[in-house]
Order: sequence, then structure tokens, then C-alpha cells
Amino acid sequence: MTNPPVSETRAPRPPRPQAVLTVQEIKDITPNLIRIKVGGDGFDAISPNEATDKYVKLMFADPAHGLTPPYDLTDLRENSPEMLPRNRTYTVREFNEDEKWLSLDFVIHGDEGVAGPWAKQVQPGDTLVMVGAGGKYQPNPDAPWHLLIADHTAIPAVSTALEAMDAEAKGTVIAAVAEEADRVLPVTPAGITVVWVDNDDELIAAVRGLDWPEGTPQVFAHGERETIKTIRKVLKEHEVPRESLSISAYWARGRAEDQFQAEKREPIGKID
Ligand SMILES: Cc1cc2nc3c(=O)[nH]c(=O)nc-3n(C[C@H](O)[C@H](O)[C@H](O)COP(=O)(O)OP(=O)(O)OC[C@H]3O[C@@H](n4cnc5c(N)ncnc54)[C@H](O)[C@@H]3O)c2cc1C
Repeated sequence: MTNPPVSETRAPRPPRPQAVLTVQEIKDITPNLIRIKVGGDGFDAISPNEATDKYVKLMFADPAHGLTPPYDLTDLRENSPEMLPRNRTYTVREFNEDEKWLSLDFVIHGDEGVAGPWAKQVQPGDTLVMVGAGGKYQPNPDAPWHLLIADHTAIPAVSTALEAMDAEAKGTVIAAVAEEADRVLPVTPAGITVVWVDNDDELIAAVRGLDWPEGTPQVFAHGERETIKTIRKVLKEHEVPRESLSISAYWARGRAEDQFQAEKREPIGKID
């Protein structure tokens, strides 16, 4: 008798708890970055972790469908998939377990999409539903040096990483953020140099042109998918081993996040 495939024997994954939170504060951090603080009793549904790039999946239901959170995703998937909430991924910028709140920084990237436009019009008292948290990266205090490569969407994660570094940490941040007024990071350790560039072509050029110090860096590289693919090639030329690398796309040009996430299973979506 042959065994059934593993996929047929595995029990379906239990639904992840949804944190139904209330918007408490909205702050314009820079012209194109809005910080939204959310909290409340639902906070305990979030499982925190030690990663500095902790992220949550936000769930945006179309108000026209009149759904009340937490959403019954199994039922929606089976009976009305067109009503499923849209998921969007955001870094946890601040996390206060004692006071039961967290904050997220939203890049405003025009009028397209769900999360960016939501952040532009949100009001205190509004509801935000999320699951999480995921994330794996933490600055390693033993790394000879750090290399952090980011576009605007990864500035929140670079900020939390810089805040977690020892005062002796060494390295370079290379960040592509178009508008000077948006180029804001927390106070960096004295040994960390910050290089700002205007766009992704300059980001790639800056990584290529970097004067590479002695030792293997710990690398954190996140941003637009095609840019990150090119940066991966540059890092390969420098023979950075996979275990020293946190690298992934945070979004893909011309793709809403739903399609971007689905494409991770296809060759176009893979960053090795
Ligand atoms: C682990 C992780 C952490 C992330 N953390 C953050 C974070 O802290 N803050 C943050 O702002 N984003 C973050 N992102 C990126 C964010 O999830 C995407 O930008 C997402 O697509 C935004 O959703 P949306 O509904 O606004 O736009 P979507 O509906 O997904 O996209 C609509 C259109 O806008 C384009 N688009 C999406 N994002 C951008 C952008 N930044 N610039 C220009 N065009 C864009 C898309 O290509 C598409 O054409 C993170 C992503 C991941 C995977």
C-alpha cells in the first residue's frame, strides 16, 4: 500500500488570531511617511518576536461588504471569496507590550492601492485588523560590519535595526528616498555611515561602488523586487554567504501586493 501524499495527510493550518485594534494617533513624520499608532484589547492576539524587522499582515475588507472583524476567512474562502479582505504587509516601527500598542509607518506612494490611501484618510477611532508578527533579522553584535540597503518602504525596518545596534557597531546604510525631507533616520552609531540616493539606479550604483571593508558584513537589503534582484547579484560577487544575508523584495513595480505575493511561487518572484 502506498502512503498518501503529505499534503493530503496534513491537517489544515488553524486560522491565525486576528488582532482587531483601534487607531489611537496619526502623525505626519515626513511629507510622505505617516505613523499610525494602534492598540486596545485586541493587542494580545499579536505574537511578538525579537526581530527588528517584525512585520504584520494588515487586513482590509471592502466596507461595501459590511463585514465585522474578526473575519471568518474559512467561510469567506468557501462561500464568497470575492469578499476576502486584502492583505498588506507593514513593519512594526514601535511595539509597547505594557501599554498594548504598536505603530506602523506608511509610505505614501500616490493614490493607487489599499494601504497607502487608507493611511492618508484614517481617523482616530477607526479599526485596523492584523495578524502577526513575522520577521527574522536582528543586527548581530559580532558582525565585523553591517550593510543596510533600503528604499523608502524599508526605512522603518532600518530604523528599528539602528536603534537596536551597539554604540560600537560599524557599517553603512545606503538608502534610496527621492525627497530630501523624507530622509530621516534615528541617531546612528558613530561607526555607521549613511548614504542617501535619489532612486533605485543610484542605489544599485552606490552598492556597486562601495569601498568594501575587511570581513564579512551582515547584510539587510529590502526594497523593490527588480532592484533587489540586481543587488543580490552584486552581493554574490562579494561572496556574502546566505546566512549573513536578510534579503527580500518588499513590493514590485506595477503589482498590487496580492499579485506580488502570489508571484513569489513563480520564477519572476524568486530572489535566491
Ligand atoms: C516584510 C515587509 C515589510 C514592509 N514594511 C513596510 C513599511 O513599514 N512601510 C511601508 O510603507 N511599506 C512597507 N512594505 C511595503 C508595502 O507592503 C507595499 O508597498 C504594499 O504594496 C503597499 O500596499 P498598497 O495597498 O498601498 O499598494 P498596492 O495595492 O499593493 O499597490 C498598488 C500600486 O502601487 C505600487 N506600489 C506599492 N508600494 C509602492 C511604493 N512604496 N512606492 C511606489 N509604488 C508602490 C504597486 O506596484 C502597485 O502598482 C513592506 C513589505 C514587506 C513585504
